Amino acid sequence: MDLESEIRAIVGDRGILTGDDVRMRSCDPFRDVAPGGSIIVRPASTEEVSAVMRLCHARGQRVVTHGGRTGVAGGAFVGEDEIVISLERMNVIEEICSVTSLAVVGAGVTIEALQNAAAEQGMFYPIDLGAKGTATIGGSIATNAGGNRVLRWGMTRQNVMGLEAVLADGTVVSAMNRLIKNNTGYDVKQFFIGTEGTTGIVTRAVMRLVPALASQSVAFVAVDSEEALLALLTRARKLATLSAFEVMWPDYYDIVATSGSDRSPLAQGHYAYVLIEAMGYSRELDAQVFEEFLESVYTEGLVVDAVLAASDKQIADLWRVREGAECIVRDMSPFVSSDVSLDVRDVTKFVDLVRSRLAEQYSIVRTATFGHLGDNNIHLALHVGTETLAEEPNVERVMFDALRTFGGALTAEHGIGQLKRAFLPDHKHPGEMAVMRAVRAALDPNSLLNRDVLF
Ligand SMILES: Cc1cc2nc3c(=O)[nH]c(=O)nc-3n(C[C@H](O)[C@H](O)[C@H](O)COP(=O)(O)OP(=O)(O)OC[C@H]3O[C@@H](n4cnc5c(N)ncnc54)[C@H](O)[C@@H]3O)c2cc1C
Repeated sequence: MDLESEIRAIVGDRGILTGDDVRMRSCDPFRDVAPGGSIIVRPASTEEVSAVMRLCHARGQRVVTHGGRTGVAGGAFVGEDEIVISLERMNVIEEICSVTSLAVVGAGVTIEALQNAAAEQGMFYPIDLGAKGTATIGGSIATNAGGNRVLRWGMTRQNVMGLEAVLADGTVVSAMNRLIKNNTGYDVKQFFIGTEGTTGIVTRAVMRLVPALASQSVAFVAVDSEEALLALLTRARKLATLSAFEVMWPDYYDIVATSGSDRSPLAQGHYAYVLIEAMGYSRELDAQVFEEFLESVYTEGLVVDAVLAASDKQIADLWRVREGAECIVRDMSPFVSSDVSLDVRDVTKFVDLVRSRLAEQYSIVRTATFGHLGDNNIHLALHVGTETLAEEPNVERVMFDALRTFGGALTAEHGIGQLKRAFLPDHKHPGEMAVMRAVRAALDPNSLLNRDVLF
């Protein structure tokens, strides 16, 4: 039998896509990147994933794993000699428990579906990102996704209690831990979190939940100096209910505020703008503490202007300012985007250095800077004229060279994928690279899984 027939015998007709059904899919959320290979396998259970991988292992067939294909690092790109295993049919929420604060889910469940199911049981899944309606739990585990509330509840890694994965040879690894304290040797789930599908295919997971929050306070404030911004962050960290500290610099805010999309809560012309969010369990007390915090930072001169949301609609409107990526796309395309991580005290110096080095080479240099400053992560969009995409390798080289000066990480949350792999060895200690290679080789000696991802 040929490969397609053998796979069909395992997963049935519903479990396999070929022809136009494959070509019509993009492997990238923002561009049309069709899969190079001709088969998408859609198993319905861990046993089917295991059987398909045993077959692929016997044939030396390479595989790329797909979740929601919202990853922006090219991790889901598929070469001509590769087939896809998509977890999209493994989308069952098996359990939500408010006593143990846990959810057991299939890897193909979307982040939003888990959030909604948790809410129905009075619980909250804290990982939150713009692509939550499509991004899957499996994909977010593989990329260790972050998002808007990392400074309170951590990255995806901190929210995975246990998981189940299938290795390249079809072996099922069940590490469905449900216990907070479990020191019985290696924490095996860590081999599959943030490893971008290079060590195994995540099929199920035990995710940590928290009780649903009762209050949400959001303010949008302006600061007039870097010192004030850093002092404000230091002060905000003392708010026990702090859940987001999102900063927008004028190169970002001016675009969004003048986009005609009604996203201009404060006047332009300030050093930076911050969306501060606090979430807690006592509506009146939380609101009082948040207002007192705002009053004190205003009185001390850290904040020079502020808007406090008075309704859910106003909260959503203020978040829309921070989530104005489409305004940047409209105004600045083409651009190179990045999600670097660095010491909060170095952000301005880093962006200034990138701008000045690019200005030595290009007559046009535009930037848009915003991000999750509370967890060291900024998104920097760079435009150097109509040829920006052709210049992408050089623009990235300039940016990442500048980043090394400050000891930053070249990706905070999006991952390396295929698009940043050339830069990885320069940003890791040789010993770290050696350990990563050894782990990968131990779990997938023939490089069958996501061969071109990471390194
Ligand atoms: C509008 C938008 C906003 C975003 N915002 C954020 C953000 O704030 N923070 C953030 O961190 N990311 C963000 N992202 C990136 C993206 O949403 C995340 O990386 C997400 O975790 C990817 O999940 P996915 O299911 O789409 O995975 P995919 O894109 O399908 O895959 C991503 C990688 O994981 C691997 N993979 C997928 N599923 C599995 C599995 N079950 N087992 C093993 N490997 C697997 C793939 O092979 C690939 O290498 C954003 C993306 C978009 C489009």
